[in-house]
Formats: sequence, structure tokens, C-alpha cells
Amino acid sequence: MNTKKVVMMAVVACLGLLLPNSGCRKKAPEPAAVGEFQWQIDQFADLKILRYQVPGFDRLTPRQKELVYYLGEAALCGRDILFDQNYRHNLTVRRTLDAIVAGYAGDRTDPRWDEFMTYTKRVWFSNGIHHHYSNDKFTPGFDAAYFKSLVEGSRGVEFPLAAGQTAGDLVAFLTPILFDPAVAPKKFIQDPDQDLVARSAVNFYEGVTQAEVERYYARAVDRSDETPVSHGLNTRVVKKDGKVVEEVARVGGLYGPAIEKIVFWLEKAAEVTENGHQRRVIEALVDYYRTGDLEKFDVYNVLWVTDTASHIDFVNGFIEVYNDPLGMKGSWEALVNFKDLEATRRSEILTANAQWFEDRSPVDPRFRKKQVKGVTAKVITAAMLGGDCYPSTPIGINLPNANWIRKNHGSKSVTIANITYAYDQASLKSPFAREFAPSDEAFERTRKYGSLASNIATDLHEVLGHGSGQLLPGVSDDALRNYSSPVEEARADLFSLYYIMDPKMVELGLLPDLEAARAEYDGEIRNGLQTQLTRVELGKEIEQAHMRARALIAHWVYEHGKPENVISRVTREGKTYFVINDYEKLRALYGRLLGEVQRITSEGDYGGARDLVETYGVRIDHELHREVLDRFARLRIAPYGGFVNPVYRPVVQEGRVVDVEVDLTEGYVEQMLRYGRDYSFLK
Ligand code: ZN
Repeated sequence: MNTKKVVMMAVVACLGLLLPNSGCRKKAPEPAAVGEFQWQIDQFADLKILRYQVPGFDRLTPRQKELVYYLGEAALCGRDILFDQNYRHNLTVRRTLDAIVAGYAGDRTDPRWDEFMTYTKRVWFSNGIHHHYSNDKFTPGFDAAYFKSLVEGSRGVEFPLAAGQTAGDLVAFLTPILFDPAVAPKKFIQDPDQDLVARSAVNFYEGVTQAEVERYYARAVDRSDETPVSHGLNTRVVKKDGKVVEEVARVGGLYGPAIEKIVFWLEKAAEVTENGHQRRVIEALVDYYRTGDLEKFDVYNVLWVTDTASHIDFVNGFIEVYNDPLGMKGSWEALVNFKDLEATRRSEILTANAQWFEDRSPVDPRFRKKQVKGVTAKVITAAMLGGDCYPSTPIGINLPNANWIRKNHGSKSVTIANITYAYDQASLKSPFAREFAPSDEAFERTRKYGSLASNIATDLHEVLGHGSGQLLPGVSDDALRNYSSPVEEARADLFSLYYIMDPKMVELGLLPDLEAARAEYDGEIRNGLQTQLTRVELGKEIEQAHMRARALIAHWVYEHGKPENVISRVTREGKTYFVINDYEKLRALYGRLLGEVQRITSEGDYGGARDLVETYGVRIDHELHREVLDRFARLRIAPYGGFVNPVYRPVVQEGRVVDVEVDLTEGYVEQMLRYGRDYSFLK
């Protein structure tokens, strides 16, 4: 498996600038809207909800708008799938919460009602009862008795009752799921000493152990196949009559009712495509959804990755394997987008020079690609988010994931400009950068260059980083197993960090000067050593792959730079700061670590990956963690963000769609209830 996607920016991403990064803006605001436009519309728990605009939608032709509309509907129809994948009882939980929000006739000014709404909003946000980032089950701020009274006090709504079940039975059934911390405590676990399958709450497996699943795939997978399908990507492994079998997601199969709806909208979309290639892409996807045949998924992927001419593009399917402890099962996601032509120029410059970067990469020449192929670089505008891209949204995407397709046909790598722009706008006034900047000089550098530098760093990570390097013959894609995601993200980050400080960046006109690169280094060190800890609970370890990558990089260079005092740790008024003393030496350290991470990847050195990740990327200094959380708490900023979608309304005349209107005013609760009503197809 190769999780190359990216970046949840929820998180700012692969890149590590901090979410609430400085107040720099990355490009000219759209006329008019800025100023009145309300970017942030809600905040609760550790989450904030933003809106994104869809600049350029007005300039699409009516037919293109119609295509976006149909693809957008297809993007919403798989929402239930993700809920179910994340935990088998999530849909029952969500339907119950939805019914209470819609129907509770009691006192909505009770403080416990606020707690109930916070919990419900969190479930919506996480597509289930586990935190979208930490994977821990979160705890309601109200008790089981209150929950019971909410169900009993709701009028005129339907609860998701199984045959013969009463509302009382439903409450009894859900009570331990919501309130007992011992029930399904983690979405998935990564501790290699435990049974990763049996102990994880994710619904990719049922009634089977890790050993059984591994035996099953060891038999099913032909290691000598040079163009293997992504085994297990769209299935659920269960035991039937004592035998381990796969249930396949397809029309008429697993998740059939939702997939039928997706297919319905895709078929509408196929009628209004921009060109024949794009039509074949959609038809191939439909073919795959009808059969569940992963060979057809590869046919689709090859067509999709070679469609570089279309203005409108989309992702719709079982894609990223982050949520599977064994790294095989794809979580359902969707994204509809179109090209941001102006910003695309920037990454085209990198693509055009890809071989230059590859040839000079500070890794063993055996691990370099002789020919860097087919890196498609573009910047896109998101028009609709669905499944695992919603509400928490990636800021970039790099697909497909199958290595042989990437090698033989290339990959598409995109950054999502309107999403990062919305983050930047929302955080314009954030006190965050000031709090953790080690000096006024560093703070000013972040203000001036932070946003530009992070855009370029994202480009380097996505356009060049993931696509660089090669495996030695005979090394399999999943040799690093549970460490493959953090190692892969570290590899792409390091490629980016190493090159952003290269004079070539100025020569290519991508950076005004290397001061901007220093801003990126400031941000990476600050984030990897300190600020990303705001997203981890005190006493816990780092689990998320991108965070592990950033932590391991920052700690490794900090430790290895000690003899020459490359980075120093200072304390002022009880606050810890990390000061970079020598940027050139830091760059050399990034290069050295890139060489090592590439070696581990190319050789499939599992032990090396484990040592690196476990030594530098997992554990947290407790005292420093406490300090960071205290400082952050005082700023009152939600560490994670997500987005509501626009509403698209087709204008129909004489039975034909002649235009599509965009409405950006829908609220978070309204949207979630509407999705629950209109896009819920699974039992
Ligand atoms: Zn990445």
C-alpha cells in the first residue's frame, strides 16, 4: 500500500505549516465576497467549521456546470458507506442523533442540550463516534439518563429500529456504544503487539483475526504479478460457515443501495462529459461499481490518470487505506473539482524540471528514477466534497495509489487552492503564529512568506516528492507494512524541505528569495517539535501518519544537529522555543535523512522503518506537551477544521438543465440533517 494522498489539512497538511498559520494570504481574493464573507461558521470541541468559495464556477459553460452537479450528487451518495466502514454501528448512532435533533420537543435551553449538540456535531464531523484524527472514541458531555430522555421526548421522527425493537431497546443498545469507554475504544490500533484486526473498531473485518486475514491474503495474492490489483481494497473480510471470505462492494453486493445511487448520477454525468476520454473514464468507473472487479478499477485508474485534458475532474471510490490497520481497505471518498489555470502554472514549472530534481536528489543513485514519468501537476478548485474528504478535507491529492500504474502511466497530483485559501482567510487574525515564533524576525518571516512558502512546499511534496525514487527489484509496495504511511510522508516532506532551500527555486521564479524557504524551515521545526502537539491529548502518543512523519523529521534533525548547534532550545518566561541557528546546515541534515528514508523505502527495510518511526516519530516529551497544550488553550483556537459544501441547484427549462446556481449559505447543522435525510441509502 502506498498512501500517497495527502494531507489532511485539517491539518495542515502534509506540510506542516500550522493550521492557523500566519496571516499571509496566498493569492488575490475573489472580488466582492471578501470582507463580508463569513469563512468560519461554527466552532465546538476541538473543531471549527469553515466555508469554501468556488471561484471560477461562474465561468464554466452550462454543460460543465451540469457535469459538476451530477458528479456532486454522486459524491454525496456514498456518505453512509464511510459511516459504516468506520464502525458497524455508526449509522444507527447517526440516525438516532439526527432524529433527536429534528424532533426533540423538550427544553433546548438546558445546558445538557448544548452538550448533546456538541456530541452530535462531532459524530457528523468524524463520520462516526471516533475522532477523525486521533481515532479515539470521544465521550459525550451528557449522561445515559439524559440520552434516554431525549429519545423519549422526540416527536414526529423515525428512529432506526430493527424489526421488533422498541425505542427503549434502541436506547439500551446504544448506551454502551456511546458511554462505555471500553466498547470500541479506538477506530484502529497500530500497536504491533496487539491483534490489529480484532482490536480495531473499523468495520473492514468481522469475526476474523489478524492472522486469519493475513493467511487469506497470503494465499490470494500472487507476489510475482507485476501489475497486481489492489487486493482487498473494496471488500470486507468476514467468516461464513467457518470460512474466511470477502464481501465485495458493488451494485447488488456490499453497500449496493448506495452504490446504485452513485451509479445513477455517474450515468447522468457520462451524458454531459467534456470529451470522449472523460466519458470512458466515467463508464469504466460505473463498470467497476457494477461488478466490484478490481481489474476494472485499474482500467478506470489508467483512463483517469491519462485524462489530463478535461477541465473538470473527480475522485469517487474506495481510495485511501489510512483507516485500515492492515493498510488494504479503501475508505470511500469523493471530490469534484475543476482546474485553477493560473495556479497550475506554478506546479507545471516543477513538472517540467522534475528530472533535474531527481538527478540531484541526495540519495543513493540506485534509488533514483532514471526517468521521472508522467507527473501531472495541477492546482484545482474543489466544488464538492464527500465521504472521507468531508467535512475534514485534504488540501492536496496524489493518485492513483497502485505503484505499477504510477510507474507505467503516471499519477495526478493536485493541490486544492480554494480550500487552503479558505484556511488562510479564516486564520488571518489568529494569535497562533505569534505565540510560538521564537523571535520577532521569525514571526515577520512567517507573516511575509509563510503562505507562499507553504504553497510551494506542498507543490514540491505532491508534484515531486511522492513521485521520486524507486524500489529495488523484488521489493514489494507493502514491505514497510504499518510504517509505510509515516515513512512515505516523511520521504515526500524531506524531498520538499531539501529542495525548497535550493537556489533553483529562485532561478525558476517560484520563490522571490531564500528567505521564504527559511520561513518554511521555521514552520516545520516549530510544528514538528511543538505546535502539532496541540492535536494530541496529554499522555497519548503520536499516531497519525503525517504527524509521525513531521515529528520524526524534526526530532531527527534536532538530535543530529546538536554537535553543531544547528537548532537550539531556549526558554523565555517559562515558554519553550526552538531557534534555528544555521539554515544551510539544517538543509544538509534534511538531505542526509532523505537519503536514509529513501534507502529504507527502496530496500523495503522494515526494521529500519520501525526504528526510525518509533525512535523519533511516536513518543512525546510529557512536560513539553503539557506546556504546549497550556499555551494553546489560552489562545482558544480549534486545532482542526472542516468544511460545509455549497448547495448546487440546477435551473431546468423544458426538461433540460440550462444553468446551475451555487448557494454558499447553508449552515452546518442544516447541511448535516439534509444529507442525513436525502443521501442515506444503507440500512
Ligand atoms: Zn503526502
